[in-house]
Amino acid sequence: MAAIIQIRQKEKFMGTMKHGVDLLEEITKICQERSIHLGSIEAIGAVQKASIAFYNQTKRDYVIMTINEPLEMTSLTGNISIKDGNPFVHAHVTLADSTGNVYGGHLAPGTIVFACEFIIKTFDGLMLERRFDEDTGLSLWSLQE
Ligand code: ZN
Repeated sequence: MAAIIQIRQKEKFMGTMKHGVDLLEEITKICQERSIHLGSIEAIGAVQKASIAFYNQTKRDYVIMTINEPLEMTSLTGNISIKDGNPFVHAHVTLADSTGNVYGGHLAPGTIVFACEFIIKTFDGLMLERRFDEDTGLSLWSLQE
């Protein structure tokens, strides 16, 4: 059975990031500074290099992939909730190289912004807290069914 809660859209922000910042750290910083506890994010732009992760479901561990070349950020989509009492960003990215081939994965620290335009939507609802999930080994939303 799916676990679902109702949320109401609150504020919307549009912005850009400074050249050279760490993409995941910057999104997290924005959420902390604006007290965004529940929301979604989308972004496009380009990165100087990338660090993305793949979750190995058998080993229950993230495998980090580093791509040391300029890439187009064709898509970033993610959500914002609470983990260990603080805003936590979970985002996935699709990044294209100079030939149009794409890499995709879970956004990890070490992805450096060349340019980034983002939209953040915030929601009213309960505090969505991440907790350890036995079935997956991941920190997932703990919702009452
Ligand atoms: Zn992920």
